[in-house]
Amino acid sequence: MNPDKYLYDIVEDYIQSGTEEERQDIFRHFCSLLWADENKRRTYTKTIRFSVRPDLLDTDMGQLFHAWSRVSYKSYKSLSQKTGWCSLLRQKINNLYSRYFDKEIILDKAYMELLKAPKQLYLKWESGELITMADAASLLCSSANEASRLRLFCQKQKMDLSWTDYKALTETFLAKILDNCKTIDAYEAQGGYASLYDFINEDNFYIHYFCKCLTGELLKWQKQYYHVRDHKQYKRCALCGALIEKTGNRRMYCPPCARQKAAADALLRKRRQRQRDITKQEALLSASPQSALSRNRNSGFPQI
Ligand SMILES: [Zn+2]
Repeated sequence: MNPDKYLYDIVEDYIQSGTEEERQDIFRHFCSLLWADENKRRTYTKTIRFSVRPDLLDTDMGQLFHAWSRVSYKSYKSLSQKTGWCSLLRQKINNLYSRYFDKEIILDKAYMELLKAPKQLYLKWESGELITMADAASLLCSSANEASRLRLFCQKQKMDLSWTDYKALTETFLAKILDNCKTIDAYEAQGGYASLYDFINEDNFYIHYFCKCLTGELLKWQKQYYHVRDHKQYKRCALCGALIEKTGNRRMYCPPCARQKAAADALLRKRRQRQRDITKQEALLSASPQSALSRNRNSGFPQI
């Protein structure tokens, strides 16, 4: 099998193969082509930058903004330059890893807005909006703090899986997708051919089908990873970021975090109660004649 072969050829060969051994052979070749493709997963550092206008650079505000004029973050190559099935499927596989597993890549919309905050504030100031130095410093500081907090929370929402294990997992998805794949003739026979015209050619139809199924399989696996049931609404645990079933607006934590939180709250209540008891006892003692006497003794009253 050579890489120039079309995906629909591979799918048809797979479906029409006579024996399990033959099918396994096609599958192994298919996977080795994908993993050998030169479209590897690539990450790189991007920078949000701006330059303080030269005539403003010597001012205190100019210097303040200059210190925030380079904000870096990690991103990834999300598009393939080549349009062959192998490069496109590999791109999809790479993108899913970057999105669901790579903890260094955080591209959450709210997080990105916070990273852009210094540039936006500078542009407002440069265009004449009145901002005091103290307000600017405080805004820059609070957006940076909020960005760090959000980054940590988004990192917690990523699952733990090495690239090697992810490759093995992806192969189980691909095997399932190939097993469920129908020939275009079968799709047409079922009346599903109308959508085929959206895809220019058969290969694009299969590439789209594989990409859609890869996402679907990964989302199904994500539910297994977090031990949540199918067909529910989900949210994230406010402490560890795990996926949890949305059983009501008041539910905020996954079961282990809920237990931890309940234990911590109980401890805190106990401590507060103990503190209240001590304060009460001290108040009682200080009101007793004995302590009144000792108070008098220490307060400079003449000793009898
Ligand atoms: Zn949790």
